[in-house]
Amino acid sequence: MNIILFGPPGAGKGTQADNIVKSFNLHKVSTGDLLRDETSRKTKLGSKIKSIIDKGSFVSDEIINDLIEKILSDKKYYNRLVFDGYPRNLDQAKNLDLLLKKYNQKISCVICLNVDKKIVIKRILGRQTCTKCGRIFNEYFNSPNSANHSCDKKFLIKRSDDNEETIIKRYGTYLDKTLPILEHYKRLNLLHEIEGKTEIDDIFVKISHIIASLEA
Ligand code: AMP
Repeated sequence: MNIILFGPPGAGKGTQADNIVKSFNLHKVSTGDLLRDETSRKTKLGSKIKSIIDKGSFVSDEIINDLIEKILSDKKYYNRLVFDGYPRNLDQAKNLDLLLKKYNQKISCVICLNVDKKIVIKRILGRQTCTKCGRIFNEYFNSPNSANHSCDKKFLIKRSDDNEETIIKRYGTYLDKTLPILEHYKRLNLLHEIEGKTEIDDIFVKISHIIASLEA
């Protein structure tokens, strides 16, 4: 099955995508992570992408569509994807429909994590990512410690776009450009909405029920 995790920046999509991947043996596709990989390679394209991300704007649909086609066309991920942070606008959603058809796949469900702006800002300001293992923590809600994280502290970083000014811009863009996609998935009968402000484990229980009901 292919799943879309939907919600504003800071909703917990990355954390829940990691949980889903572990429990259901799927593969995570975070367009944000793929773009950050490119920026870390310090190529010309990477530095262009970094300046767009740091402004809180969207990277072009052309770049995103190419990244997604590479993954959808790869047989090892056939019908085993969890999309995190994609699609981000209606054109990307329509392109995804075309690519799914081309590679004979489908979306099984869209899980939307509902979180308000105040929580989003606090979560993003506290977000820490481990550059070694890729895990996401939060200094306020889910801080890394010896029980949940074995890598050295030096690998924990804050993202350069996780500052208050950029978050407010990203949240506004989410409302304008990303939220309208929900109607598209509602019409296709794929949408499941979950309250995203409760504990990580509670949210994952709800997500697991949704996925299990699709497998049944
Ligand atoms: P994320 O890691 O999902 O928070 O994404 C970080 C940044 O990468 C976003 O603020 C955008 O600048 C860019 N980005 C990630 N995914 C997309 C996408 N699907 N379309 C356009 N830009 C994206």
